Amino acid sequence: MLLAITTTHRPATDLGYLLHKHPERVHSRRQSYGVAHVFFPEVSEERCTAALFVEVDPVGLVRDRKGTSASAALMDQYVNDRPYAASSLLSAAMADTLGSAMGGRSADRPELVGVPLPLVFSLPTLPCRGGERLLRALFEPLGYEVDARQLPLDERSPSWGASPYFSVQLRTTAPLHLALTHLYVLIPVLDNSKHYWVGEDEVDKLLARGEPWLGTHPQRDLIVRRYLKHRRSLADLAIDRLVVSDGSTAEDAATADGTDAPRGDEQEHRLERSLSLNERRLEAVAAVVESLQASSVIDLGCGEGRLLKQLLPMKGVVRLTGMDVSHRSLQLARERLNLDRQPQMLQDKLSWLHSSLVYRDARFAGYDLATLVEVIEHLDEPRLGMLSRVVFEFARPKAVVVTTPNVDYNARFPALPAGRMRHPDHRFEWTRPQFQAWAQQQADRFGYAVRFEGIGDADAHLGAPTQMAVFTLQP
Ligand code: SAH
Repeated sequence: MLLAITTTHRPATDLGYLLHKHPERVHSRRQSYGVAHVFFPEVSEERCTAALFVEVDPVGLVRDRKGTSASAALMDQYVNDRPYAASSLLSAAMADTLGSAMGGRSADRPELVGVPLPLVFSLPTLPCRGGERLLRALFEPLGYEVDARQLPLDERSPSWGASPYFSVQLRTTAPLHLALTHLYVLIPVLDNSKHYWVGEDEVDKLLARGEPWLGTHPQRDLIVRRYLKHRRSLADLAIDRLVVSDGSTAEDAATADGTDAPRGDEQEHRLERSLSLNERRLEAVAAVVESLQASSVIDLGCGEGRLLKQLLPMKGVVRLTGMDVSHRSLQLARERLNLDRQPQMLQDKLSWLHSSLVYRDARFAGYDLATLVEVIEHLDEPRLGMLSRVVFEFARPKAVVVTTPNVDYNARFPALPAGRMRHPDHRFEWTRPQFQAWAQQQADRFGYAVRFEGIGDADAHLGAPTQMAVFTLQP
């Protein structure tokens, strides 16, 4: 089976760097199901193609398969389409041979990782169970131009009709790692035959690869069910996690539908306007940036970019990154910052990351300061453990700022009915003891010191409306 990846990005040979493969060599790896080769049939500055070619050993597959009953269709085990049809085995080979590229890691071209590149993927034999309509329904919402030709069952016997296989070209302009995750998840979905490797950890794999885009895909439920075929409870678990993990899913979906759902942010900001709490929060965080003399800052869950706008003109800040799981928020942030009209020096400071806080991402590392302003309360509490590891253990900045509402103060908002949270998407709102206990625990576990501050005018009993923790890495 074959997958060819072509780019016309200049220089096109950057593709080799992004795939961690030298274009002049053939890279072969033996797998349990056969051998995977990566090579470059076409290499020039203008155009470069990498091919992933997988030789499947169908007999070996059967030999390694556990629990196959002797009564199972015996011929089927030996005579099947696995050697040539793009299937879950191709995804497995992608993970084995292109894992770093798919994870968005590039030692030689880190600056290219997030850059949309012109890409064409060719799959000469893609099974499309569900036909061309499904093929289009899966890829077009992700921005692909789909070119598909259905293959006959047998070229010599046209009367036998069409096969379920298509020769497919998918064109897009997207960061390579993101496009690879699309293929990784969607190829097995199109194939829809039983995978040999569906297990508990497949939920994590699916979510890890699909997190930034799957939650809002119009075919989300079909994708998850087919991907986790024969394991309904796993599929339900995955859908649950997709729906709850991403604070912006419902909002984004509503916006994409064109329905006029009230924006949660608006509600929150109206509520807090009298205090101009939002500005006080930004000022408080900017003051921390100043006092720590942080020169590089990553704003995790940057939303519409309010903090970035505040930090951008600061002289001491030379590198600034906005990250969010919501595509739409990033778009709005770009508009808010109006970068095209900023001096080049400021434009060069800023970059964007579309990613998620609950999956390890090497691109979060290397900053003086990471900020999480009104973000943690948008995640389900059981997922905070992962967020902590992603931030404190893997990204490991020199300092971290976390702000979150102080729930006790809600009694002072006349417009807020008792017991309601400040934002419809908040999963929890904590008291000061709750927040401080959580923060202290993270600090102890990961080797940080932590101090606390209230933001906004404090009530004598209820405290300040916003609470802030400032973590500093201990030597
Ligand atoms: N920090 C911004 C936005 C706060 S709203 C501000 O103060 O204005 C919370 C933000 O967290 C939203 O933009 C939401 O998209 C983002 N978010 C929610 N879950 C996330 C996740 N798992 N990974 C990254 N960002 C997430």
